[in-house]
Amino acid sequence: MEKLLIASTNKGKIKEVRAQLKDFNFEIIGLDNFPELMNIKEDGETFSENALKKARVSAKKTNLITLADDSGLEVDYLNGKPGIYSARFSGKNATDEENNKKLLKELEDVEKEKRTARFRCVMAIYDPHNDYHKTVDGNCEGRILKTPRGENGFGYDPLFFVESKGKTMAELAPEIKNKISHRANALEKMKKIIKEEFCS
Ligand code: IMP
Repeated sequence: MEKLLIASTNKGKIKEVRAQLKDFNFEIIGLDNFPELMNIKEDGETFSENALKKARVSAKKTNLITLADDSGLEVDYLNGKPGIYSARFSGKNATDEENNKKLLKELEDVEKEKRTARFRCVMAIYDPHNDYHKTVDGNCEGRILKTPRGENGFGYDPLFFVESKGKTMAELAPEIKNKISHRANALEKMKKIIKEEFCS
């Protein structure tokens, strides 16, 4: 069975991809056996550049078809910030709590209607055998609350209110989040690409 590498060590992400691609004839593996690929520098200016770089470098080093993603939060009032800097919004090695605190500070006194935001994910695939590559993106729309709610998830989930569910991402059960998230949307599109390009 052909291997498909997910350029991540995040067990949750790998599990999600494995579940989505279960009907394809691929063995899904993560970066656990490739420590030299765990810290590829995300130095692009867009989600797309970062995702594609991770996919390309990992694919070329391992000679395996590779999927990689880059994601983050875009807040309209902040002109799309923190964007690609989501993980380090309040500084290098920032914790989720510190990032959330900074976000609340930057949106202090901003009214409800102006707190719209979205999670964005760009997913890239790279085939080292012929340099075929493609990116797709997925969004999840929401609004930034004034106080955190919920215990699930990670990152900005406790502040990210999903109107259609009447809950924050952190209040949603993981299986619900995994159906509506930016990553799930991107993965759904990627599934079509894989079917067309690699399974026919
Ligand atoms: P990554 O590209 O998945 O590593 O995400 C980069 C950063 O974006 C994370 O460290 C979080 O701050 C934020 N982020 C991405 N996806 C999510 C999500 O599903 N919930 C909350 N925060 C997220």
